Order: sequence, then C-alpha cells, then structure tokens
Amino acid sequence: MRQNLVAGNWKMNLTYSEGLALVSEITRLARATAAGAAQPEVVICPPFPLLYGVGEHLPPSNKFHLGAQNCHHKESGAFTGEVSARVLASVGCEYVILGHSERRQYFREDDELLGQKLKAALAAGLKPIFCVGESLDTREADETFDFIGRQLTDGLFHLSNQEFDRVTIAYEPIWAIGTGRTATSAQAQEVHAFIRERIARAYDAKAALNTTILYGGSANAQNARELFSQPDVDGGLIGGASLKAADFMAIVQSF
Ligand code: PGA
Repeated sequence: MRQNLVAGNWKMNLTYSEGLALVSEITRLARATAAGAAQPEVVICPPFPLLYGVGEHLPPSNKFHLGAQNCHHKESGAFTGEVSARVLASVGCEYVILGHSERRQYFREDDELLGQKLKAALAAGLKPIFCVGESLDTREADETFDFIGRQLTDGLFHLSNQEFDRVTIAYEPIWAIGTGRTATSAQAQEVHAFIRERIARAYDAKAALNTTILYGGSANAQNARELFSQPDVDGGLIGGASLKAADFMAIVQSF
C-alpha cells in the first residue's frame, strides 16, 4: 500500500547554522509527539552544501529521510559546479525532487532532460519526487487535465514498471506555489484522482493504488488536514511552511 509522506523543500533558503537549528527544533518536536500517532514518512530537502550535516542531525527515527532538490543527469565527469545523483546518495540522500516548476521555468528543464535525470537518480538508488502542475493560464483555459496528462506521458511514463515503483508524484499548481493561494481540497483531489487514473492506464491498477501523490502549493498548518483528508492526496511537498519547525511538524501531524 502507498505511504503517506510530507517533504520539506527548503529551496535556496537557510545557512548551515540556520538549517541545523531548524532540524534540531524539528527533532525536539518529533520527540514530543505521542508514541503510536500515525506517522507519515518525512523527507527534508536542504540546499546541497547542507545535506550531509543536516542528514547527520535528522531525528533518530526511521521515518525521517534526506532529500535533494535536484541532480545532474550524468553519472560523473567534467561538469563544473554540478552534483550527481551518485554523490547525493553517498552523503545519505534517499530522495531527490525532479521537475519542480522553478527548475522547469528558470533552468529550462524539459521532459527530455527530466527523463535523463530520472534515470540517473534511479540508477544511483534515489527515489525521485517528480513534480507536475499547470500555470494559471492553463487552468483558466480549461486545459489542466490535458497539460498534466502530457507532463506525465512525456516526462514520466517512459519508465519501466520497476522504475516507476520507486517514484513519488507531486501535484503542484504553479499558481499556488509561494502565492498564499492554495488549491481547494476539491481541486487537488480532482487532479490527484486524474493522475491516479492515468497511472492505471499507463501501468496497471496496482501501480495506481500504490503510488504516493503529494500536493504542493501554499500548503500550511491550517489547510493541511483538509487537503490530506482527500482520498487521493497522500501528503504534501511543502515550501515556505517547511522553514518553521512548528508549522512543518503541525503539517506532518495532520493525518
Ligand atoms: P510553497 O512551495 O509551499 O512555498 O508554496 C511549494 C513548493 O514549491 O514545493
């Protein structure tokens, strides 16, 4: 069965000491959580230079994992300034976010490149968190489902069944990211159900049932419970609200 999961995407925020302070506060709050409470998997995704140190200080629970925000599509070599999936795995990363709309928009990452990144991440043993999501123009033109369907087909469904098994999908409507404008739980549910139906078509019913699908875009401690109560919403990819321990842990505890 699929797992509930909450991932914190710190983006290009926090220095090393700020990151360590945040993770130590998260650890304190995780300890205070009632034993036996439903615990989702938690993935913390700091900037590259913070990965190793933050990983060393994650709460001592097998529910907490380290993730990166990106990786290069080649295994190694002369690519000055880049970081490979293999290097990420070697410092304790288990997950990597791929296809975030900020990477698609500001770094021109297209389906072909993302396909190569997915392969590189999987080959290094990482679990990709693959992001899809429409712009406001696309939503207003009533083209959301066509658009997301295309992102899935062109960007993700080239993977084999075995590869796809290790992928988490994040639905992040671009108009909701960092804007304070969250999708309603009904809007999120509708797209999540559509994604699950497309997985069933591309793979099979079991794959559809077992795939974790996260919502991202201005999710916070106030709206998480309502979003996570939807049948096809299995957790969240959290930006802004992952930078405050109390907010982030309130979201983690929203199942
Ligand atoms: P936000 O970002 O929670 O700040 O809207 C989410 C994301 O971009 O992953």
